[in-house]
Amino acid sequence: MANARILVADLTWVDDRFVAGVAISVDPDGKISSVGPETALEAGAPLERLPNVALLPGFINVHSHAFQRGLRGRGETFPASAGSFWTWREAMYELVSRLDGDETESLSRAAFTEMRRAGTTTVGEFHYLHHSATGIDWSLDPRILKAARDAGIRLVLLATYYRTGAVGKPLQGAQRRFESPDPESFFAQLDRLAPLLDPATQSLGVAIHSIRAASLDDFRTVYREARRRGLPVHMHVEEQRGEIDEASAVYGRPPMQVILETLGTAEAVTAIHCTHTRPRDLARFLEEGGTVALCPLTEGNLGDGIPDLPGHSERELPLCLGSDSNLRISILEDMRWLEYGQRLRRESRGLLRNSAGDSVVTLLAAATRGGSRSLSLRAGAIAPDHWADLTAIDLNHPSIARVTPETLAAAIVFGAPDSVIAGTYVGGRWESAHPDPCAAATR
Ligand SMILES: [Zn+2]
Repeated sequence: MANARILVADLTWVDDRFVAGVAISVDPDGKISSVGPETALEAGAPLERLPNVALLPGFINVHSHAFQRGLRGRGETFPASAGSFWTWREAMYELVSRLDGDETESLSRAAFTEMRRAGTTTVGEFHYLHHSATGIDWSLDPRILKAARDAGIRLVLLATYYRTGAVGKPLQGAQRRFESPDPESFFAQLDRLAPLLDPATQSLGVAIHSIRAASLDDFRTVYREARRRGLPVHMHVEEQRGEIDEASAVYGRPPMQVILETLGTAEAVTAIHCTHTRPRDLARFLEEGGTVALCPLTEGNLGDGIPDLPGHSERELPLCLGSDSNLRISILEDMRWLEYGQRLRRESRGLLRNSAGDSVVTLLAAATRGGSRSLSLRAGAIAPDHWADLTAIDLNHPSIARVTPETLAAAIVFGAPDSVIAGTYVGGRWESAHPDPCAAATR
C-alpha cells in the first residue's frame, strides 16, 4: 500500500478559525488520517507544502438540477407580463422535451465542472429527469454518474420519486420523463444503480420531489424504505405559495405540516427552500431532526421570496446550501446571500450569528458541515476519518490583500469573487480552478 502524504498550507480552517502550521495526513484511499501541528509530525511521509494557500473544508452543494444549466441566459425577458416560478417552469419543461442523453450528460458535466472550479467538492444531484423521450427506461441515470466522474466532483445521486403532476393528478407532457411508476420499481432502479457507483466518490440518496409529486402513502413508503437503507431523504417544501394553496385545498393544511404528520419525524430529511413555511412548522421540523437547504441565487432569480429563519440561537442551525437551477454557480455568493436575504427581510445585520456572535462561521458551516449532515457524508470538516475534500484559497488574490488571519474568513465570504479559489482536492486529488485554457478548449 502506498504511503500517506502530508499537506501543510499557510493557514488551515480548524475548529472554526484559520490556524497556521497545521499538517493534514491524507491516506492513499483519499481520507484524512490525522490533523495536527506540523511540529508533531513523524518523519517519513512525503510532505507537500502549499505556500500562499489557506485550506477550507471542501464546499458542499446539496441541491442541484444539473440539466437546468441549459436554461442559463434564457427566460430573462418578459414581453407579455411579469413572470413567475410557474412561467419559468414551462421554459424548463420545454428544455426537458428536447434533451437527449448526450445533451443531458454534457450539460451535467458543464455544471459539475463549474461547481468544482468555484470551490465545491460535493454535489447532491436532485435527479428527476430519468427517462428518454421514448418511455420508462431510466437511461439518463447513469449519465449523471458519468458526468460527475468526468468532472471529478463527489456526487450524492438523490434519485427522485415523482409520480403525480399535481396533487392527485397524472403526469403530463414533459413530466412523463420524470416518472416513478411506484415505490417498488423506484427502489429496483436504485438497486440497479448501486453497482455502477464509484465507491470512492459516489453514493446514493433519495428525494421525493414535492407534495405535488407523490401521494401521502407514497411519501410514507418511500421515506421508510430509504431510512431502512440508511439513505438521506430530500424534498422541495413550500417554495411557492401556489404549492401551499394547492396542498391546503386538498389536505386542509400546509405541506410542511402534512409532511411532518405523514412521516411522524424529520430524521435525515432535508427540506429544500421552506420559503413560505410558517415559523411554528419550521421550528417543529428542526426539533424533529430536519435540515433546511436554501438556494438564495435561484430563489432570488425565480422571485420565490425570503424564508423566515429562526435567526440567532444557541445551537447551530442545521442549514445548508444549493445551486438549484444552476443559473449562476457560485457557492460563495450563495453563502453571502443567505445572510443578506435575512438582513433585507429584517432590516438588521448578523441574524444568523452563532453563540459567539459570528455570522461567517454559520455561513461557512452551511456550506460545509451542514451539507455533510444533509447528505450523510463524512466530509465538510478537516478532521480525521473525513474525506480529504478541501477548498484552497489563493492568499495572493487582490480581493483579500491586507486582511489578517482573523478577518480572512469574513473577507472571503463577503468580499471575494470565485477567482479567489485556487483549486480543490476531492478524495485527496488536486485540481486547479484555473486550468490551462488551451487544454480546456479541447473538451
Ligand atoms: Zn430544486
